[in-house]
Amino acid sequence: MTESYQFIFIFLLIFTTAVELYLDFRQKNFVLKNKKKVPTAFTKIIKLADHKKAADYTVSKINFNSIELISGAIILYFFTLGGGINLLNNVISNNLDHALEFYSLILGVTFVICIFFLVKFLVVKFIKQSPNVFQKAVEQANAHKKTIFYLFILVGLSILTASGAINEIYNFLDTHFDSSLINGAFIITSVFLVLHLISIPSGIFQTFGIETKYGFNKVTPKLFFEDQTKSIFFLILFSVIFSFATLWILSELEENWWLWLWFFLCCCLIAYVGLAPILTQVSNELTPLKDKALKTKIEKLLKKCGFECNGLFVMNASLRSTHGNAFFAGFGKTKRIVFFDTLLKKLNANEIEAVIAHELGHFKKNHIIKFLFIQMILFFLVLYIFGNLKDNNDFYIGLGIQTISDANFLLLFIFVLLKFVGFFVNPFFSNISRRNEFEADEYACKHANAKDMKQSLIKLYRDNASTLTPDSLYSAFHHSHPPASIRIQAIDKN
Ligand SMILES: [Zn+2]
Repeated sequence: MTESYQFIFIFLLIFTTAVELYLDFRQKNFVLKNKKKVPTAFTKIIKLADHKKAADYTVSKINFNSIELISGAIILYFFTLGGGINLLNNVISNNLDHALEFYSLILGVTFVICIFFLVKFLVVKFIKQSPNVFQKAVEQANAHKKTIFYLFILVGLSILTASGAINEIYNFLDTHFDSSLINGAFIITSVFLVLHLISIPSGIFQTFGIETKYGFNKVTPKLFFEDQTKSIFFLILFSVIFSFATLWILSELEENWWLWLWFFLCCCLIAYVGLAPILTQVSNELTPLKDKALKTKIEKLLKKCGFECNGLFVMNASLRSTHGNAFFAGFGKTKRIVFFDTLLKKLNANEIEAVIAHELGHFKKNHIIKFLFIQMILFFLVLYIFGNLKDNNDFYIGLGIQTISDANFLLLFIFVLLKFVGFFVNPFFSNISRRNEFEADEYACKHANAKDMKQSLIKLYRDNASTLTPDSLYSAFHHSHPPASIRIQAIDKN
């Protein structure tokens, strides 16, 4: 049986990579073939130079993706059959104390950051009541925001260490959690961390190579470094919490572990959908929308569609990129609509209204909830079908893993099982997503002007240098949004 698992793994690794490379190859060829001529439907609105730029941009991204596909397969091989996970297991089992010190420090830093934001929140609340007294001090503080933040963390951590609080966290973890849990969470977090660190050079190339070459990038090296630091911190924090909780479920709720794990994954999924927009706000600044005419227009549209929301905001996305977008953040009545400042610069008021009407369409047709539901069913099926592998010796050995443990199962579950299942369900998901786009477009045309919707689509496809001539098979497999030409055809039909 060991050989069968090994064979299936190697076969799927080669097969999925080969199929993806073939799709990349088709896409590249098709785009290059159609580079010299703007499709007839767009000749009036898209210049040949813009069309050529979109083709070159697409090809650059595809070339880069092909390299990433191959290196991704090699890395997965190295982690499994190449012995990478075994190596991490050995190193970490021998350094359990360091793992505990590391967790204590991460929890300490998180605690201090939370206090910082709580203090900031309270100060701002207080100032609203007595503006004159503190206004000047706050203006001063705002000018040196970052320095104050880092000083606060430094002083906070020193106090935590000196008072012995960090030691207390250490002792708490040591006495309340089984060593296999601490060990396992550390192994999983290390794998996430190593994979993230490996991906940094490719992120640098993408940002400062491709995006800069085509004039989209606004990120400075300093900002890139800051973003990376933040994302590494959040990665560690969430990974520690996620793996602790999952490993606890796996070890404590023995018989029905897979059902409980499914329930937990569903909760994570919902939390992610709710938190993702808030997390984008950690790295970006939101200011209330100032343009009064636009504000009235959008508020009128919201009223017409029966949509309650807690304010319109502008996000300083131009700090990072010139790509334009808009999204909804939050739940229930506290929802906010957030515009990228880049979107406001590119489109006129009527076109922005159409874009928001499209987003409202997604909301009104419950696309997000339906999508969540499908993902939950998928998780259920994957756990139901493959859950038995958790205690199957042959599965581990076949994939080159020496020790059977919950942590190793989780790693194989995330990086092998979900990866391959994802490959096969991806076209299905893309299809649903494309259908949702048509529905949202239809809704937008009903509640705003169809002509503005078309105009905004063309401008966005042009300014994002999205190709107008994608390969049909590639598009069916990968694209979450239908090609511009087909979307416009569908709008014309309505
Ligand atoms: Zn959409």
